[in-house]
Amino acid sequence: MGGIFGVISKQKCISDLYYGTDYHSHLGTRMGGLVTLNQEGGFARAIHSLGNAQFRSKFEEDLPKFEGNSGIGVISDTDPQPIIMNSHLGKFAVVTVGKINNIAELEKELLDAGKSFTELSSGHTNPTEVVALLISTGKTFSDGIEIVKQKIKGSCSFLVLTLDGIYACRDRYGRTPLVTGKKDGAWAVCTETCSLPNLGFEAEHFLGPGEVRLLSEDKAEQIAPEGEKLQICSFLWIYYGYPTSCYENINVDDVRYYLGYYMGSRDKTQLDVSSAIPDSGTCMAIGYASGKQIPYRCAVVKYTPSWPRSFTPPKQSIRDTVAKMKLIPNKVLLREKRIAFCDDSIVRGTQLRDNARVLYGYGAREIHIRISCPPLIFPCTFVNFSASRTPTELIARRYIAEKESPDFNDFQKYVDDKSEEHKEMVNYIKNELKLTSLKYNTLDTLVKSIGLPKERVCTHCFDGSSFGG
Ligand code: SF4
Repeated sequence: MGGIFGVISKQKCISDLYYGTDYHSHLGTRMGGLVTLNQEGGFARAIHSLGNAQFRSKFEEDLPKFEGNSGIGVISDTDPQPIIMNSHLGKFAVVTVGKINNIAELEKELLDAGKSFTELSSGHTNPTEVVALLISTGKTFSDGIEIVKQKIKGSCSFLVLTLDGIYACRDRYGRTPLVTGKKDGAWAVCTETCSLPNLGFEAEHFLGPGEVRLLSEDKAEQIAPEGEKLQICSFLWIYYGYPTSCYENINVDDVRYYLGYYMGSRDKTQLDVSSAIPDSGTCMAIGYASGKQIPYRCAVVKYTPSWPRSFTPPKQSIRDTVAKMKLIPNKVLLREKRIAFCDDSIVRGTQLRDNARVLYGYGAREIHIRISCPPLIFPCTFVNFSASRTPTELIARRYIAEKESPDFNDFQKYVDDKSEEHKEMVNYIKNELKLTSLKYNTLDTLVKSIGLPKERVCTHCFDGSSFGG
């Protein structure tokens, strides 16, 4: 998915920029980038691959070269960023998060208008460069930003670093969040509010869909108001987000806790303990334990001293080894227990099946998987949800294709959690993964746990609903 961070300060900004961007590391595993701007209009930039090392270790040596009081940073799951551009508007730098679905169309339009692309490092046009070029077609920065909002199909939140300050623009339908933070003599803007407190910032304003703010050292002025339609990604609360973060002022841990609590309080299964597939299942497992009135225990623990995060090694076999090595089963606890394991979602199911096999091997009597969201039936087309690229990678879709036909496309009976077809699908997944039982949360429980009206949350992966292209 990716995350962005910006800061403008009366002091040198690099320390806040470095740590603030680093606090978005859970949102992407591919590239990281920083750029600062000094009073003379000079940019300093660094971009590194994060495929084999963490953000801070990659950027530490670059720190002395960054000067100036304003800067923007990015953790990206796609192309190298930030992009720096010199245009009739002046020099500026851009970072983005999202997914541009009509990139080919925009590329052609820009080429036809005589623009050139220079960033072709992965063999295709860099989406952030498309955004930078679209901005440069405006009469002013505000005008260029409006053009980006109107032309992009899919989603795009972005920051523009200029001599006027930092323009912060939230995606037209707010699929990804942006929040401003304030402290004495400085303003920040971020995807994840967990990046703010340790740097002394207080979250100040949750930008609305399509809202644009211009941050300077002492204010965050609204340049464009928020739009009416909000479609924030529900997966932020389910999986992507850090537990201490908030979107729309709704805390991630709170939502995960209630996803577990509601499920646990309704679950009649005989169980001994609630546990989690760490880390994304942890908050839910605590809520589940509380709702079910059974103890929460660490039946599997992530070995954080040397596996602090998920790297993305290029080979699947290495990825499998990493997935296996970083989780240590608690053999003493597992023995003869009936355990509810809480997890965020099931994409392909392969990792969960491997985990279940290992847990039975360590003596668990029964393995009951509890999933915080409904079955994933539709791939994401809005925020680069990298876990599913094609429908058939989703275990639910594989089942439907086998049961119906490969080109079957009327999915509503599988979406409806009260239908026989839905129950059979869940039963199939349970048997495929060799589990004692499997339960998913319903869409109603998901929406209730988030607390926003259903029409203000994107739930496309579960029910196919969407608008805005
Ligand atoms: S389709 Fe799913 S992952 Fe994509 S924006 Fe919607 S809820 Fe988020």
